[in-house]
This record gives sequence, structure tokens and C-alpha cells, in this order.
Amino acid sequence: MSVNGVLVCGEITREGDIDSITLELLSIGRRLAESSGEKLIVALFGDGIGKAAEEVAYYGADMVYKVESPLLEGLNVDIWVEAVDGLYREIQPKILLMGQTATGMDIAPRLAFKLNTPLTTDCTDLNVDAEDGLLLRTKPVYGGNVSGVFKYQEEPQFVTVRTKAFEPVERGSAKCEIIPFNPDIDRSMIKVESIERVKEEVVELDKAEVIVAAGRGIEEPENLEKLQELLDLLKRYFDSGEIGCSRPLVDQGWLSSPHQVGLTGQKVAPQLYIAIGISGASQHVAGISGAKKVVAINKSSEAPIFKIADYGVVGEYEETLPAFKQKLEEIL
Ligand code: FAD
Repeated sequence: MSVNGVLVCGEITREGDIDSITLELLSIGRRLAESSGEKLIVALFGDGIGKAAEEVAYYGADMVYKVESPLLEGLNVDIWVEAVDGLYREIQPKILLMGQTATGMDIAPRLAFKLNTPLTTDCTDLNVDAEDGLLLRTKPVYGGNVSGVFKYQEEPQFVTVRTKAFEPVERGSAKCEIIPFNPDIDRSMIKVESIERVKEEVVELDKAEVIVAAGRGIEEPENLEKLQELLDLLKRYFDSGEIGCSRPLVDQGWLSSPHQVGLTGQKVAPQLYIAIGISGASQHVAGISGAKKVVAINKSSEAPIFKIADYGVVGEYEETLPAFKQKLEEIL
């Protein structure tokens, strides 16, 4: 059977809810389906995903594929690639969309190799070329300094999409058809066994509404405590928040790599990003282009971070932070 269409590979949270990236992919997926005259299909993968599949059917897709198996519990990438590949061969979509998330980044390159098709990662905009129907893939290049638009002939037209690049689609009242799909997978396909982490640190920078980010200017790891106090205050107002950092802090072992923002770290899109003692190198700034408001505190008025900041304080952060915190105490 071949359905074609635009296929969104959705994601589910640890709690079994639909992840926001799924709704963001459905939003751009709908636009692409309309401009290419194709159906919009969303697939969910996992074990015990019935509730999420029922729910996602209300978000504007033409059909939902529920790909369920106990082997899809957790993320064993070998098995997942086989499952997505199996569904791809069933549907043969013209366009295949995944999130630029940990899951998407694990699966997409392997799948692209298997399907022998070019993959464009980290797209921030997508359109269909009216002349030849091919996907126009926009993504930041050269450390985020410019945007590039790419186009390839091969099918499927395969991309991963940056989180928060598109507004999530709203829930509707109409429910589409849900089609169960039995993936042809078995244990022998597992080449790399996963082992449980002894202590797992969950840092959800990509979902944080406020990020207080530390740079080399904080001078000592003990000073992270001061930034954490600021974050705790801001979390009285924002629903979620995290500590972020520039790369030198990870290199020095002050914070773990999931905290790193930038080209080789996380791409973030909070409501508010406060950069403290961060110079604003292009590799760092590449990660914060999606932030709604950027506040920078830096003792050097020449620091490049001020070129992209909405608000800036030139001064020693040790002096600025107490005043900032005191004001927040008064108003929050
Ligand atoms: P610095 O550049 O040393 O800046 C420290 C700042 O703190 C200065 O501006 C200084 O004026 C200020 N300061 C000092 N004391 C105080 C004080 N008391 N109060 C207030 N301000 C003060 N970097 C990333 O962050 N993320 C990435 O993903 C990343 N990827 C990279 C990939 C590649 C291939 C390469 C080559 C580099 C990458 N980097 C990345 C590193 C990047 O180039 C910069 O070196 C790094 O971002 C600098 O970090 P920083 O701003 O904390 O430190």
C-alpha cells in the first residue's frame, strides 16, 4: 500500500503526553501538505501509546499511524530506525519531517543513510517550490550568521526541524482516522544495547521559558549559586526555567553538557534569556536566535553580546545581581 503525503514523525514525552515538537511539526506539515496537494499524516512510535494516538488525532492531520511494540519502549535507535523505515516503505511519503531533538538527531541521519536520501537538519523554515514541487529548506549556516536555502531532487524530501521554529497547531474538534501499524522488528536488530544511567540529570533547556546563562565571566563555579538564586526568583513568574552556560564552563566541568547553549550545544527559544559574563561569540549566539528577549550583563561595553541583546547592563555582575534580585523580590 502506498499513501504518499507529508509524514510527521511525532514524539511523546516520558509521561506519555504528546511532545510539543509534534504539534510544531504538524503546524508546518499542514502548510506543506496544502501547498503540495498531499495528505498530512502523523505517526507515533512507542509502547502503550494508545492515549497519545487518540489525542493527536485532534490536531489537524488526515490520519494517524500508531506504531506500537514493546520493543519501542525507551529509545533503542537500531530498532527505531527499522520501525520508521518500515512505516516509510508502507506509506512512501513525499516529505518526511522529524524534530531536531535528541530523538530526531539519533534517528534521522541513520534513516537518511538507509533511504539513500539527503537530510537537511535544523531547519527553521520550509516551503514548497511552486515550480517543481521540491522542498525549500531554510537553515542557519556559518554559525548562524546567515540563512541558507537548500533544495534536493531525491525522495523522500527529508528534514529535521528546529524546536520552537513554528507555533504548535491548536487542538480542533474533528478527529481523524487512527491506523495501527505493526512494525516488522525483532531483538536481533539491536546492535547496541542501552544501559540505564546511574544518575540522570534532566535539563530541559529547549522547553525552558526563562534561562539564566553563565559565562566565563562568573569566574568560579561556586558563583553558579548566585545565578541559581536569580533563576529561583524568576520561576515565581515563569512556569519553567533552567541554568544555561557557554562552552568553557562545560569544558572546565563546572556544568554538564546538556546546559551548554550554542552551535555545539542546545538551540533555545525562551521568553527571556539572561546572559551573565558571556562575551557573545557567534558560536554561542547561534543557539539563542529563537529567544524572545535577551538581557546581557557584562563588564565590557565592547562585548559582542550587546549587539544582539534587547537590554544590557555594563558592569560587574557581582554588583548588578543583588540589585536585580532585590527588585524582583519587590515585584514578584
Ligand atoms: P569569554 O569569551 O571569555 O567571555 C567572558 C565574558 O565575561 C567577557 O565578555 C568579559 O567581559 C565578561 N566578564 C568577565 N568578568 C565579568 C564580571 N565580573 N561581570 C560581568 N562580566 C564579566 N561556545 C558556546 O558558548 N557554545 C557553543 O556551542 C560553542 N560551540 C563552539 C564550536 C566551535 C567549533 C568553536 C571553535 C567554538 C565554540 N564555542 C562555543 C566557543 C566560543 O567560540 C567562545 O569561546 C565561548 O562562547 C566563550 O565563552 P564565554 O563568553 O563564556 O567566555
